[in-house]
Amino acid sequence: MPSSPLKLLCVTAHPDDECFAFGGALALAAEAGIETHVICFTDGQAATNRGAATSAAELGAMRRAEFVDSCNILGVTHHELLDYQDAQLEFANFSAAAAKLVERIRRFRPDVILTFGGDGGMNTHPDHIMVSAFTTAAFHWAGQKKRFPALGPIHTTQRLYYVTTSFFFPDRPACLPAPWTVTLDITGVRQRKFDAFRAHTSQLPLMDKFESFFEKHGDTEHYTLAASPQSQPATQATSLFAGL
Ligand SMILES: [Zn+2]
Repeated sequence: MPSSPLKLLCVTAHPDDECFAFGGALALAAEAGIETHVICFTDGQAATNRGAATSAAELGAMRRAEFVDSCNILGVTHHELLDYQDAQLEFANFSAAAAKLVERIRRFRPDVILTFGGDGGMNTHPDHIMVSAFTTAAFHWAGQKKRFPALGPIHTTQRLYYVTTSFFFPDRPACLPAPWTVTLDITGVRQRKFDAFRAHTSQLPLMDKFESFFEKHGDTEHYTLAASPQSQPATQATSLFAGL
């Protein structure tokens, strides 16, 4: 291990994205002693499944607590839930949203950043597409001294990865996924990923609906290397950190 631990930043849109989309990668990183930071943009007030909540604000508060529980189960080192409106990210001020990430990237100084791809993930959610765009801009801008000079010393993150998929849910519009360059074997942390999802008690109907697909396809997570300081051909890897 290097003297200073490697750091992973994961940027999401809703409570449950951290386990549903990235849970295996986050749990594997935690087990390897890598410092992890999850930034989630919204508290998920617009969710279809609302548990016992009687108002949007109540659901938001419930989901904030569920997010904390899920991050703890996954072994996430730092987590932060921003106060953007669920289902409204496409109308957010782009530059201001990216600047929030630039400031955090320059402060946390990650080696690796994970987020959604431009497809918006398995459910093609517009908030996921916007988080992908904000994070992609922030990944590049954090390393450029002309961008947001007041937001701290520049930092070049070594790798930007998008989550992608090797399967589709039936009876749902399929996303248009990027080809993967990393296949993570998450069998060792699969149970933790499921336990983290079960911490989202307001969203359990979703888990019941999709559990059989995760039983079948849940041994791996796939990611696409989207950017790094090296010019290189695409290659296949089994770790997000190989060579770092
Ligand atoms: Zn989501």
